[in-house]
Amino acid sequence: MMKKASFNSKLKLSLPPPESLTKFLTESGTFQVGDLLVNKDGVRIVSESETEVPPPIKPSDNQLSLEDMDVIKVVGKGNGGVVQLVQHKWTSQFFALKVIQMNIEEQARTALAQELKINQSSQCPYVVVCYQSFYKNGVISIVLEYMDGGSLLDFLKKVKTIPEPYLAAICKQVLKGLAYLHREKHIIHRDLKPSNLLINHRGEVKITDFGVSRILTSTFGQANTFVGTYNYMSPERISGGKYDSKSDIWSLGVVLLECATGQFPYSPPEEEGWTNFYELMVAVVDQPPPCAPSDQFSPQFCSFISACVQKDPKVRQSALKLLEHPFVNMYDDLDVDLSSYFTDVGSPLASL
Ligand code: ATP
Ligand code: MG
Repeated sequence: MMKKASFNSKLKLSLPPPESLTKFLTESGTFQVGDLLVNKDGVRIVSESETEVPPPIKPSDNQLSLEDMDVIKVVGKGNGGVVQLVQHKWTSQFFALKVIQMNIEEQARTALAQELKINQSSQCPYVVVCYQSFYKNGVISIVLEYMDGGSLLDFLKKVKTIPEPYLAAICKQVLKGLAYLHREKHIIHRDLKPSNLLINHRGEVKITDFGVSRILTSTFGQANTFVGTYNYMSPERISGGKYDSKSDIWSLGVVLLECATGQFPYSPPEEEGWTNFYELMVAVVDQPPPCAPSDQFSPQFCSFISACVQKDPKVRQSALKLLEHPFVNMYDDLDVDLSSYFTDVGSPLASL
């Protein structure tokens, strides 16, 4: 009945090969005096034409410097860049370093700096911590909390499907993260998908890459060089209308349904699969919303998915309201252990 979308609904950002980014990173010792320095105390933009050299970052400032990081390995590659596992030389602490190649105008840089500042001020156990960001010579480097289980996408590739009790425990954490972003930070994620939900050996699930997609889209969107994935995008966003935080709830519904069934919930019209991403976009806007098969899943799960994928965003429930949905707590008595569920499949940390 349901088929995996067999096309890549992404347009690629033209980038130098990731190897050259890695080389640049390891060879460069000057990141700490980049054009743009963002840390938890504020944002500073220093244009290259400025004669005043910004003061060096001292360890006593409690700031991270990229030259103090040893690159351990590349842990992931996305549309816009590469993610490395790095280790701080003095504290031995692990971080994830996201490196994005992007030559941007001053104006976009300021917007990005503001966005990253919001990210850095986020304090929520369900949101990936962003420690510091740097911009130098068209390369943005973001120091993030390292999540040793990788993404839900990586995990789903191994397990194929996630049983309901685990899904409820995952869903609860994502809803708490979304409620925090929506209500306290007034951020719409805009790109909620399995690869932006990260997991670790403690059984924690955290949201990452919030807000960044807005900058990427607004910077590159008009030039048509960057377009994110459309698979999880709400009908109102696809239609180009106004959208709000409820857009993320649609994405959550599609993500959970895919995790439960192991398949992306929109089937292509023909046997050969989707021929282009417009077909999928039309399907999301025109077709009735997807639903969980009632013969395979609990009525609570089916009802939860329907609450998320209402086509009218006004009818769709908020993250806070969904936290009260019967599905979210229905397996609480089982004492679901996400920690061993995530670790038994084999975390990338085990292969270090
Ligand atoms: P896209 O670029 O289309 O949004 P993506 O989300 O997969 O796709 P990235 O955000 O660059 O792209 O992440 C690539 C991969 O790197 C993720 O799928 C995940 O496996 C890994 N990754 C990202 N951030 C972290 C992190 N903080 N800790 C551990 N692994 C991470
Ligand atoms: Mg991502």
